[in-house]
Amino acid sequence: MQQPSCDRHKNLQMIPFLLEYPGGTVSGHVCPVPGCGRHHTEDGYFDLEDGKPVRQEKTLRNKITSARDEILKVIRARAGA
Ligand SMILES: [Zn+2]
Repeated sequence: MQQPSCDRHKNLQMIPFLLEYPGGTVSGHVCPVPGCGRHHTEDGYFDLEDGKPVRQEKTLRNKITSARDEILKVIRARAGA
C-alpha cells in the first residue's frame, strides 16, 4: 500500500501503525502531527477517541446531516419560491 498523506496536512506522509482493539487488528497509517492523530486505513480517514475508531458514527452522522440539509432545501424551495 502506498504511504498516504494526512487529509489535514497534505504535505506530510503518514507513518505506519498497528492498532489492536477488542474485535480485531487494524493496520494503517497515522499522522505524525501532535494533536492531529488522524488515522488512515484502506477504508479511509478516521479519528481515534479513547483508543477506538470513531469513523462509523461520524460518517453516519454526516450522512444524516447532509440528507436533512437536502430535504430542508427542497422544502424551503417549495414553500418560499
Ligand atoms: Zn494531520
